[in-house]
Amino acid sequence: MPQRSSVAQPWRMQAGRYRMQGTECVVCKNIDFPARQICSKCGGHDNVEKIMSGEGEIVSFTILHTAPEGFDGHTPYSIALVKLKEGPVITAQIVGDSAGLGIGKPVRAVFRKLFENGEGGLISYGFKFEVVG
Ligand SMILES: [Zn+2]
Repeated sequence: MPQRSSVAQPWRMQAGRYRMQGTECVVCKNIDFPARQICSKCGGHDNVEKIMSGEGEIVSFTILHTAPEGFDGHTPYSIALVKLKEGPVITAQIVGDSAGLGIGKPVRAVFRKLFENGEGGLISYGFKFEVVG
């Protein structure tokens, strides 16, 4: 039986995180992000790799002043629903000044440190978004 490890998980997810790898359904052309083995629209099993452009727009957003454990030093920070140009809507942190936030504002993905695992020294990287223009 395979062993579950919280340390190994970021490594397994690395390809998808670093390249914004999603999938496109061969049957209905639906695009999923993150990548899925089964199409979220038609249930098809024929998915091919699709790399997201990293461009999108804000659908909705909120500014958090109270952070969950481990993110104490990051407040206030902004979380938004971002609709990617390719279609999928994801939840992501928006970096930079919250004054620039607004529904419909264009954003692009930026590669940033997500969190640091204190004792193990493990640092996880991934995508956040910044408002453009
Ligand atoms: Zn499909």
